[in-house]
Amino acid sequence: MVVELVSVGTEILMGNIVNTNAAYLAEQCTALGLLCYYQTTVGDNEKRLLETVQTAMKRADLVILSGGLGPTKDDITKEVCAKACGRKLVMDGASRVAIEKYFEKMGKEPTENNWKQAQVPEKSIVLPNPNGTAPGLIIEDEATLILLPGPPNELIPMFQNSVLPYLQGKQEAVMISQTVKLVGVGESSVATAIDDLFDGQSNPTIATYAKTGEVHLRVTAKAEDEKKARKLLKPMVKELKERFNEHIYTTDNDVSLEQSLVELLVNNQLTVSTVESCTGGLLAGRLINVSGVSEVFKMGHITYSNKAKRKIIGVKRSTLEKYGAVSEQVARQMAKGCCMLAKSDVAVSVTGIAGPEGGTEQKPVGLVYIGCCIKGKTRTKKYQFTGNRRKIRESAVAAALVLMRECILEYIAEMAFGDKK
Ligand code: ATP
Repeated sequence: MVVELVSVGTEILMGNIVNTNAAYLAEQCTALGLLCYYQTTVGDNEKRLLETVQTAMKRADLVILSGGLGPTKDDITKEVCAKACGRKLVMDGASRVAIEKYFEKMGKEPTENNWKQAQVPEKSIVLPNPNGTAPGLIIEDEATLILLPGPPNELIPMFQNSVLPYLQGKQEAVMISQTVKLVGVGESSVATAIDDLFDGQSNPTIATYAKTGEVHLRVTAKAEDEKKARKLLKPMVKELKERFNEHIYTTDNDVSLEQSLVELLVNNQLTVSTVESCTGGLLAGRLINVSGVSEVFKMGHITYSNKAKRKIIGVKRSTLEKYGAVSEQVARQMAKGCCMLAKSDVAVSVTGIAGPEGGTEQKPVGLVYIGCCIKGKTRTKKYQFTGNRRKIRESAVAAALVLMRECILEYIAEMAFGDKK
């Protein structure tokens, strides 16, 4: 089945917003085994949108549109798609009730133009939108049109809950993917280690994706039903587990590195605190994004200046003078000091040069030291990252999470070994 994606919105054309919906939808469609040859972005212009939809309907079996389903005059996706299929708009009772309920919950009164959102092209399938007022739509015609709201927090759940089951039901074969997520090993080493698995792969297939500080291996199997597809996946995932064992932090598609870390901390009853210089709270932010982190996260400090490093966290003046703020010694004292101050079991420190200014020959931009203190034992590591300021900071955060994971696993192993002795 061939799919084509159409992103609607002048904001996207002008570069005011990044088209994350297209990336998300393309990834989801690929995982389903759909072939995508074209993606188009078009503004809120009736003539150009109609042309785009008509062209897409000729080229593809399925056209997924995002955006332009709102209540305002420039939201025209639904009207244009109805026109492209020669259908009238009719009032959908269920959508009207859903809009009423939505406004009641928000404690607001709907305005006249909100009712426009309850109008749907005749004989279309209406997709509920629990996170907004614009229902999604499926219009089965010469090609099938799927209309989704623009806000990602509405589009993603609607895709998962309504579109995915619809598309899976249409396909003769089911495609299932499982992602094996790795840290502490580079993309090229991973590729070399699974070179033989790539040869002659057809079902399941493996694809590698390099992420900041991580490598993901997506294994995809195709079969006539889900059970058979899962059965095909199993031996390949098992093989990858054997090859990469401790480097794998999860084989669950939906679990992030920080989620797996928080789970590790909770399961081992270890509390954590952070002290950051160049990452300025990004590390604490990633951890605090995880629901349930309150059980283990104690304190996060941003000690950007040397004075803050001394006064708040207890880094020695002499250490700062002798080695400089970006040094192994300072990272070590920051981690130790943070552990003591927060009375946490684990503390992670980051100090580095994010650039673009501030680098020297001895200490270039991208140089970062990370420390991890766990129950009084501190390990530090030196890194040299590349890229712009944002990339360096993100790489430092990923590296801090990875180092923290390594230290915790080492500590758990030592404890288990101690118990046996
Ligand atoms: P609404 O009911 O909120 O008006 P809509 O379906 O009309 O939804 P748009 O008005 O096109 O959607 O976009 C609303 C917001 O959704 C945009 O301001 C933007 O924040 C987000 N958005 C729209 N399209 C995209 C996209 N392709 N990628 C990422 N975000 C998007």
